[in-house]
Amino acid sequence: MDQFDRAQELDAYYRDQAIELHRKRMEVGGDSLTHCLECGGEIPEARRTILPGCTHCVDCVEEFERKRKRL
Ligand SMILES: [Zn+2]
Repeated sequence: MDQFDRAQELDAYYRDQAIELHRKRMEVGGDSLTHCLECGGEIPEARRTILPGCTHCVDCVEEFERKRKRL
């Protein structure tokens, strides 16, 4: 395994951990919020039904994961 592979593996590891943490945090509670904690935008009912306890809209979750990928 060369250094590049190692860096990739580490990157994937930290990203998975971050996503898992974020997922757990979003699952806390049980009641879904009607509005995103981050941007205040409305969270569609379909999303609240699929993800009980969700607190962020899909845009913010995607933004969060994009930021993680840049690290
Ligand atoms: Zn949002």
